[in-house]
Amino acid sequence: MVAAVVAALALVLSACNGGGPSATAADSVAGLPVTHFKSGLKPNAPTPDLNVHNVSGDESDQVATATIADVESYWSGRMPTDFGMDFEPVTKLLSYDSNGPNQTNGCGDTEGDINAFYCSRDDSVSWDRGVLLPNMLQQFGQLSVVMVLAHEFGHAVQYRLKDKAGIDKSTPTIVKEQQADCFAGGYFRWVVEGKSTYFNVSTSDGLNAALSSLFLVRDSAGTSATDTQAHGTAFDRIFAFQLGFETGPKQCAALDLDSIKPRLVEQPFRPGTDKKQQGDIAIDETAISALQSSLNDAFKGANVAEPQIIADGGACPGGGPSTPPASYCPSSNTVTIDLDALAELGKPVDQDAEFSGDNTGGHGDFASFAEIASRYALGVQKGVGASIDTPGAGLRTACLVGAWAAVAALPGQKLRLSAGDLDEAISDLLRPDGLVAADVNGNRTASGFNRVEAMRTGYLQGSPICSRQYN
Ligand SMILES: [Zn+2]
Repeated sequence: MVAAVVAALALVLSACNGGGPSATAADSVAGLPVTHFKSGLKPNAPTPDLNVHNVSGDESDQVATATIADVESYWSGRMPTDFGMDFEPVTKLLSYDSNGPNQTNGCGDTEGDINAFYCSRDDSVSWDRGVLLPNMLQQFGQLSVVMVLAHEFGHAVQYRLKDKAGIDKSTPTIVKEQQADCFAGGYFRWVVEGKSTYFNVSTSDGLNAALSSLFLVRDSAGTSATDTQAHGTAFDRIFAFQLGFETGPKQCAALDLDSIKPRLVEQPFRPGTDKKQQGDIAIDETAISALQSSLNDAFKGANVAEPQIIADGGACPGGGPSTPPASYCPSSNTVTIDLDALAELGKPVDQDAEFSGDNTGGHGDFASFAEIASRYALGVQKGVGASIDTPGAGLRTACLVGAWAAVAALPGQKLRLSAGDLDEAISDLLRPDGLVAADVNGNRTASGFNRVEAMRTGYLQGSPICSRQYN
């Protein structure tokens, strides 16, 4: 991380609008066109010829079974070409109701187990059609179930690849999880490319739903990446998924602790931080003043007049841009904010409630800070003569917010990034009305994949790349 942070500190921003190939231009998603259509199970999808124990006729089982058939088809193509091995289907498939009568697999009794998992002892994939899958269907749609089972199947693939994926008994959980997310990304690309018998996935809402489901299953803030149960933050998990989507299973199998450690952001709370507060602070005038100096410091290398953050309602006077709860007003070079609305948005995340679907928590302090920072970054861009009302401007803004977050992660900052903060920004990026990747008028590229990638690019590589890559 040190190199990235040094680059971020040397904030150089240019108004360069020159061309140059970019895999993340606003008009494509990892080289594929931005598409808009209904995603999910194809209306004419065949019934899979699979033997699933205890299966029901409900939607959860339909989607789960179709996913297994589909990933098996994907892997029966990839195993020989990428790894020189024949593909072997899993030995057992089990649908169970975690509230219902006992069902067992090689890993034991499934009663009360709200889960979906691969069990290597009997080479089985099992899912809870009683609670987990219906919950996911309701909140994030069919693709979230596809994501979870494609990930679990990734563990079955790992078990088959063994040393070809560098997997043995001592492999840390986080490595296995990163590989499984990456494998799921490879599979999703194949679906997006139209090769699936069962599913349609658009690169806009379809992939957004898939990424949102990875967000849902992230680890709690404050987990250490070396925890034996660590699966990764949303930031880490989406990185792995996107890597697989962009490069394919061979790169996924090459992931090991050395290669992932430098970019993992999962960390425990610093000593003295109250875990209940999740590292969040109240969004009030003191916090805003700390944010103002943090942003001034981070962007001083751009040599532009500093936008001033003013708590006067969140909409620019005189018919200027209105993107409440925070707007950048070009005529006065100010960021106007609605402090009450941002305080509400910035309340701590209630991850349990979020999972059960009756979320009354906020999105965390960093979601609010990132929204304000994004409006400030528009002022900096205007200062250097860059466009602020184009799709590229929205992604460049997210990239600059990432670059600022990297600076805010350094020790000794007045407003210092804490565990879970980057996930709060990702939550904002995946929200339908979040501002972090929006241009001055609040318009955003339809691809959450691009929005998240833009912020991460700035975070890991610093601000110079933002104007080069997003124009
Ligand atoms: Zn896993």
